Amino acid sequence: MKKGNIYQGTVEYVDFPNKAYVAVESNDEDNGKKVIVKNSIPRQKVEFMLNKKKKDKYEGRLIKVLEKSPLETVEPCNHFGICGGCVYQTMDYMEQVQLKQKQVKNILDKVINNNYEFEGIVSSPISEAYRNKMEYSFGDEIKEGPLALGLHKRNTTYDIVSVNSCKIVHDDFNLILMTVLNYFKEKNIPYLHKVTHKGYLRHLLVRRATKTKQILVDIVTTTQLQYDMVELGEILKKLPLTGEIVGFLHTFNDTLADVVKNESTKVIYGRDYIEEELLGLKFKISAFSFFQTNSLGAERLYSKAREYLGDTKDKIVFDLYSGTGTIAQILAPFAKKVIGVEIVEEAVKSAKMNAILNGLNNCDFIADDVLKALDNITDKPDLVVLDPPRDGLHPKALKKIGEDFNVAKIIYISCKPTSLARDLVELKKYGYEVRRACCVDMFPGTVHIETCCLLSRIK
Ligand code: SAH
Repeated sequence: MKKGNIYQGTVEYVDFPNKAYVAVESNDEDNGKKVIVKNSIPRQKVEFMLNKKKKDKYEGRLIKVLEKSPLETVEPCNHFGICGGCVYQTMDYMEQVQLKQKQVKNILDKVINNNYEFEGIVSSPISEAYRNKMEYSFGDEIKEGPLALGLHKRNTTYDIVSVNSCKIVHDDFNLILMTVLNYFKEKNIPYLHKVTHKGYLRHLLVRRATKTKQILVDIVTTTQLQYDMVELGEILKKLPLTGEIVGFLHTFNDTLADVVKNESTKVIYGRDYIEEELLGLKFKISAFSFFQTNSLGAERLYSKAREYLGDTKDKIVFDLYSGTGTIAQILAPFAKKVIGVEIVEEAVKSAKMNAILNGLNNCDFIADDVLKALDNITDKPDLVVLDPPRDGLHPKALKKIGEDFNVAKIIYISCKPTSLARDLVELKKYGYEVRRACCVDMFPGTVHIETCCLLSRIK
């Protein structure tokens, strides 16, 4: 096979997260060769260009889908294929969850060499309009084109697609997005150009609680202009939304990195947080604190964690990587004490405030790196819950957890099963074996998946 040449083939299977293996169809010796082509679906016939070749490992870039897969029975949104999200959205939802659970089981089976129960997948209660948060970027759809506001185009760094009919959010998001976009277009306000660092508009952050329908809107800009957001606030107030905008904010951010970051925030009207409910508890969520993006899915994930932990009466539980402390608070009513550790101070502040709001006085939250905090906590845990970021546990933190704690059970929640697999191998060295595992789909339409494992100590 030759780099730069165009080939055709059929997708045989897809490994997590989006590595499709295409069997080449040709009349020569290339027939049957396997090439990885990202963002394809099992049984699609695709055309691709070979762009990487290392020994007998081939990779190609998808050019077009020649024949749909029989698994594709759903009409996609208008932005499908252009927008970088929701690769699986044309698949029936039941097919999506089957595929994801098979991918995760393959990964786990390779590293777990004892008997364990793989319980399959818990689906999301809703597979559309499930997200409670979106971070949209200002930019343009083509170089020097008109103002755009939305998500990044697939395989591009700068181009934005205005996602006015995205299906994974409630229509309130789409209406707010288009209103804000049209407003700034009309006013001719420039977006921040990522190369020259000149401009004003950066991001639009929208949070909408699924249970309470409270909405928070935050416009993130640089300080290169002084623009009064009051008029836009008045326009937003009059929108026929099904939820209610309880706060409209203006955040200033002059950092160079392309991240939604808070340097200072002005409340234009209302307040700077929304309330959401999970499993009967209330949580105040500010613009920038971490909160699971699928509220109804999070209830299922946390219920699973609680089920795996079993009896927590009279036990001390550590919730490591606790974010806004949701897991800690869900466990607290059934435990002697729960200690959460989280590195982002704002999240720890919210966690403490939420615990008070929920009348829980047996939760402690520590703002620190897990690695450091473990040296300073005097309490000894009976049970540990781990919910680290994508890359998994820091090797030194893992060693500490493995060596220092002699806990009966560890619950490991992971949003990246490949990192999880690597950590499971290490935890086994300290005597922790996986007993039960399952997936929880928090991200319908996309390639992402959460995995929850119960580990027990064997020696
Ligand atoms: N358990 C929470 C959040 C999990 S996300 C929930 O379900 O909502 C992972 C969290 O780990 C993030 O909030 C992130 O800020 C935090 N984090 C990342 N690195 C960390 C570290 N070294 N020490 C402590 N917390 C960390």
